[in-house]
Amino acid sequence: MNFKDYYAVLGVAKNAPEKDVKSAYRKLARKWHPDANLKNPKEAEEKFKEISEAYEVLGDPEKRRKYDVLGPNWQQAAQQAEQQRRYRTNVNGQEFEFDLGDAGAPSGFSDFFDMFFSGVGRRQTAPGPGRSRRGQDLETTIELNLRDVYGGGTKAVSLQIEDVCPRCHGTGTDAGRLCPQCHGTGRVLLNKRFEVSIPKGIGEGQRIRLAGQGGAGINGGPNGDLHLIVRLQEDPTYKRKGNDLYVDLPVSIYDLILGGEVSVPTMSGEVAMKIPAGTQNNRLLRLAGRGMPQVKSRSNGDQYVRLIGQLPQNLSDKEKKLFKELAALRNGKA
Ligand SMILES: [Zn+2]
Repeated sequence: MNFKDYYAVLGVAKNAPEKDVKSAYRKLARKWHPDANLKNPKEAEEKFKEISEAYEVLGDPEKRRKYDVLGPNWQQAAQQAEQQRRYRTNVNGQEFEFDLGDAGAPSGFSDFFDMFFSGVGRRQTAPGPGRSRRGQDLETTIELNLRDVYGGGTKAVSLQIEDVCPRCHGTGTDAGRLCPQCHGTGRVLLNKRFEVSIPKGIGEGQRIRLAGQGGAGINGGPNGDLHLIVRLQEDPTYKRKGNDLYVDLPVSIYDLILGGEVSVPTMSGEVAMKIPAGTQNNRLLRLAGRGMPQVKSRSNGDQYVRLIGQLPQNLSDKEKKLFKELAALRNGKA
């Protein structure tokens, strides 16, 4: 980001009275208006934008005061303001890196302007026609576990959201100096707590939108939205594929060979499951409707249970003898 010398752009002295600033702007704006420069439209457009940006600041007494205060301190202020935008936050006891990205709302002017002069401070002044802007949409991640998603319901999340600086009310200056709280940007990050309602069955990478909870609107514009992108934690028991759940279940080989009934963990509690006699090892059995809820539907996915046969260990002499007999029977020797 580069410093913008708005006085040089308009060709006026630092102490020039308001009316001189205005007439300098008018003269230059007439000269560089794109309609009057059809032969070099690109250059004219650039110049016109530069002049407009300079006048946006120097033509507004409050902004001009702030610009003058900012002058020698602008780099330090910019650095501090940048640092403020990257922070760590805590969501349900977990730390998240959160970066608000570019400072200020994009105005079409320079980065310098966006950082210090396109702030929410304008909201405090009477809205001019066509000047209001919607606040920025913000996004961050929300880490959920399978149980959060299975049950739905609300979860408390605390995040930092950009808002008008309470010390300078968005002007960027305080008692004639740069506001120490927002470093002249007029915006600060405030801690906010949200009760987020988790849609049942929401999946990895899907978004939860909190309308109007994003960046503050500018000059009376509406607030942006806050988007929470779902990150699902690995579950120690279940693997999720779409709305279906997969679980590995150790079973005895006798249940596989002779059939039996086993207890299976499901998201809604243990259920009894029959194993048919002569079931092969590693076979998948399905528990219909025991999977994850489907978003915007009343039905659930299924749960698949993989039967993992466990060979008996530390055989007694009698067991060894019986297995030998079984093996001999199988081989037709008995
Ligand atoms: Zn402030």
